[in-house]
Amino acid sequence: VLDVRDLRKSYDDLEVLKGIGFGLRKGETKVLIGPSGSGKSTLLRCINHLTPPDAGRIFLAGEEVLERNIDAMRARMGFVFQDFNLFSHLTVLDNVRICQIKVKGMGARGATERAQQELERVGLADKAGAYPAELSGGQQQRVSIARALAMDPDVLLFDEPTSALDPELTSEVVRVMQALAAEGMTMVVVTHEMSFARRAADELIFMENGHIVEQGPPEQLFTGATSERTRSFLNVIA
Ligand code: ATP
Ligand code: MG
Repeated sequence: VLDVRDLRKSYDDLEVLKGIGFGLRKGETKVLIGPSGSGKSTLLRCINHLTPPDAGRIFLAGEEVLERNIDAMRARMGFVFQDFNLFSHLTVLDNVRICQIKVKGMGARGATERAQQELERVGLADKAGAYPAELSGGQQQRVSIARALAMDPDVLLFDEPTSALDPELTSEVVRVMQALAAEGMTMVVVTHEMSFARRAADELIFMENGHIVEQGPPEQLFTGATSERTRSFLNVIA
């Protein structure tokens, strides 16, 4: 459903993505790992043009992602950020339904119903009237996941969704993400949570220095990575 081909990006003379290609089938979860600065965030941001790529092509459900259709394409790709990115002046319910109304043109009643469903799915039905500042980090991140889900995206992109959270809150967010993966959501997840990677990933992609070094099922990478770099990276973090 997502097809990334030969993606390239430089900042001045720093080449951050040096020709990245991978595919994602419907219902598949891929976990993207790699050292700091390897280009993981840049790759995710290039996929929906939050950062415009220099070269390469991206297809979502067969349709190319281009500058001229970017708003429509973005509406089909949910993005979950490290720092939640909620609107602090809006309630939880409004945070979840605002994009459905503003971007999708959904009616208020339908948007509210869908928002409530998604809040229930992430275990926050009782927090609909609260403001983000009244929630824990883990709850805020679950709201941000509900907001992405409410748009009915073709793919969800997560950039280190738990790295701002302490371990207890991390596990409640990881549980939600694991359930989504099990339910057949299509996702690309940048994370250092190797327990999530082992359990939920169909494939791991190890990136370094703007290249994909190796990719494959988690067990294969954990037990028999062919690249010495992948092995030593996984030894350190897993
Ligand atoms: P981390 O694990 O620390 O989040 P990452 O793999 O996500 O790292 P990126 O954030 O994609 O790495 O950054 C890749 C490289 O691009 C880094 O060297 C970074 O300094 C550089 N970079 C990222 N964004 C910009 C920018 N807006 N302007 C200039 N350089 C940038
Ligand atoms: Mg990053």
